[in-house]
Amino acid sequence: MKITFPHMGNLDIAVKAILGRLGQEVIVPPRTNKRTLNLGVRYSPEFACLPFKVNLGNFIEGLEKGADTLLMIGDSGGGACRLGFYARIHEAILKRLGYNFRMITVSNRSRSQFLGGFAGLGQGKSWKDILYAFWLGWGKMRACEEAEALSHRIRPYEVKRGETTKVYNRVVKKIDEAEAFKELKLARSEGRCLFQEMEQDRDRRPLRVTVGGEIYVVWEPFVNLNLETRLGEMGVEVIRTLWLSENILHRVHLDFWSWRSKSRALRAAEPYLGYDVGAECNVSVGDTIISRRRGYDGIIHLMPFTCMPEIVAQSILPKVSRDYNMPVLTFILDEHTAEAGMMTRLEAFVDLLARRKSCKPQ
Ligand code: SF4
Repeated sequence: MKITFPHMGNLDIAVKAILGRLGQEVIVPPRTNKRTLNLGVRYSPEFACLPFKVNLGNFIEGLEKGADTLLMIGDSGGGACRLGFYARIHEAILKRLGYNFRMITVSNRSRSQFLGGFAGLGQGKSWKDILYAFWLGWGKMRACEEAEALSHRIRPYEVKRGETTKVYNRVVKKIDEAEAFKELKLARSEGRCLFQEMEQDRDRRPLRVTVGGEIYVVWEPFVNLNLETRLGEMGVEVIRTLWLSENILHRVHLDFWSWRSKSRALRAAEPYLGYDVGAECNVSVGDTIISRRRGYDGIIHLMPFTCMPEIVAQSILPKVSRDYNMPVLTFILDEHTAEAGMMTRLEAFVDLLARRKSCKPQ
């Protein structure tokens, strides 16, 4: 089998490690780019949400590189989310376009279905090998997330603009190249040192802004136009609320011990939402409240155009913003989102937060 899958942030690094260890040939599609988006948009229904379109483009580019098997999550994010239909609709569109392939869907409904779906790809491998593959993939995912969180914390202090991004890319490359746990551990510790050694101006007092919303657009820098990097380079410390590893732990009911647990945000949202709307809707509301309690300066809410769960969150956030005196900026992203418009709104928002902060008694 030559397996391909959609891109989402650094997810390819973990998936490649798991599938490679399970003895599968992995075809990683090119990083999401303008062509990927154009391909996805051309063949998708117009009303489909942005992740659907970009994932379709990823699949086409993977098939062009010789893949014969597509791997996709097979269940929805719950409630009003349409993710559960993606695999079947992608399959129908791609077959109509004449591609010959097999679609494998991995269910994320329960722990056993999720792990069993991947384990099924390791036929002929021992349980020890399968567990090692998972553990290595998981370790790489956590290592990439750690590097990303560190880059968010350090970027507003960097003296040479762009240096954090260069260091971050180096660290992620090392994590990707690690073949075993020993190398991964080394890559992690070297990465921390590289960040620490950067020239930083610690006299600065950066604004602290939460970035949350729909997980795909938060995670994929191409579709959010590198928003987190832009904010960092504007002197803002980004606190990302959504991490894929936390999301997976939550989906398989193993996040009870995590301090970043999604369950905390769901509880915080309860006064505004009596039931789970699906995907990250309740989390977007809950994280706004939690961010206020933690003293952050504002929150940026990212959502794809036509995303049903986030439309619900977007309609509630103005009230939460008023009740908690928390500035919220929503970006609705689709294939027409342009850099100039985003930068104008971002700069205005950061200016507003800076003024608010300077007026506050110290
Ligand atoms: S959360 Fe929204 S954008 Fe994401 S897959 Fe579901 S409906 Fe689409």
